[in-house]
Amino acid sequence: MTDVTDPTINTASDLVEHPRGTAPGKPGDRGAFGFEITRRLDPTADGLGRGGFRHGRSGVIHTPHGDIRTPAFVPVATQATMKAMLPEQLVDLGAQCTLANAFHLFERPGEDIVDAAGGLGKFMNWHGPTFTDSGGFQVMSLGVGFKKTLAMDVTGLKSDDIIAKGKERLAFVDEDGVTFKSPLNGDVHRFSAEISMGIQHKIGADIMFSFDELTTLMNTRSYQEQSVERTFRWAKRCVAEHRRLTAERLGKPYQALFGVVQGANYEDLRRHAARQIASLDFDGVGIGGAIEKNILGNICAWICDEMPELRPRHVLGIAAVDDIFAGVENGGDTFDCVAPARTARNGAIYTRDGRWNVLRAALKRDFRPLEEGCDCYTCTHYSRAYLHHLLKTREMSGCTLATIHNERFFVRLLDDIRASIDGGYFDEFRDATLARFYANGSRG
Ligand SMILES: [Zn+2]
Repeated sequence: MTDVTDPTINTASDLVEHPRGTAPGKPGDRGAFGFEITRRLDPTADGLGRGGFRHGRSGVIHTPHGDIRTPAFVPVATQATMKAMLPEQLVDLGAQCTLANAFHLFERPGEDIVDAAGGLGKFMNWHGPTFTDSGGFQVMSLGVGFKKTLAMDVTGLKSDDIIAKGKERLAFVDEDGVTFKSPLNGDVHRFSAEISMGIQHKIGADIMFSFDELTTLMNTRSYQEQSVERTFRWAKRCVAEHRRLTAERLGKPYQALFGVVQGANYEDLRRHAARQIASLDFDGVGIGGAIEKNILGNICAWICDEMPELRPRHVLGIAAVDDIFAGVENGGDTFDCVAPARTARNGAIYTRDGRWNVLRAALKRDFRPLEEGCDCYTCTHYSRAYLHHLLKTREMSGCTLATIHNERFFVRLLDDIRASIDGGYFDEFRDATLARFYANGSRG
């Protein structure tokens, strides 16, 4: 039986009303945030960290709104909601936490409204831990509107090449920040370290990210070097502004701030950037920026080599099953990804045997669940034929049911990975899972 007098035991609804480490008239208690390691992976001959070290570990991130057992998947609730989903459905499929987008919430409804609602969690009826990104990615994506990465250096031929044809350039970076035109209404706005911190404090997530400059793999080496230094200067400003806002906003829970490491594919730049970020008083680290898929594990390992072990590490915007394994093995603790939800709405279904599309004509009369043995609500109640019909007729419930399955797939994948680290069988689990998932040449 639960001892209700034990102050360490809170139900989710208690936590949202009385987050850990809050007191009227006092700044949030930083002690309410922390990270504990449960078990580390053993070093191996081919470990990518120094001396064959493997930075992968299981652990627990403590936040004012509850704990996150890691490694963990972080479903993305861009507009303080995941498309087609209720927060309750995310809870039911086992999500521990969620990540919203500071830029989108700044545009609509505005951070003041989220603040007046009592913060992101209360606004969206989400009782667990929350993250916001800094808005930098979205703001700078306006610069070129092309794929996932972008170039701010339009003077160099190399980066000029990747600006999408027919797109108006909507963002410009300078030493102090970024000026951009709103894609919603054309208004000109400004983002900087201080502005991003102000917005993220008002949104009130448990974990925030510092404002960084994104580059693309197309940028020149010299631009990457300048960008890393600029990101460091912005990081210092973020830490200072974060401290000021934490002291000023009394009675609020402590919000942790993660510094973001850039440096593209260059080992020396990544290590240098990681040492810079490690030298500042951040609570954790975000591994971000332009990353070539085949060296994702290396980049995580280089950064973790330079980082204090007890700062949790979030890998920003991971997109595929093999990337998640590489990220976990080399030190990632939390992973956000929009792909499972976005692809679900187009009928792409993740299963242990790879990703396939439920809109295929052959599935019109297939009355099996999306995945045999899957414990999600969709698979335990509905058939492939029904999902095929709903998505063909563009019914919103089709998006909901497909999203429930895909999000459950990734939440469970990370839960299983965590169990494999705790149980000492990570390598066997990784090999078996990847062999099965990619056996049919599946993407994702
Ligand atoms: Zn399912």
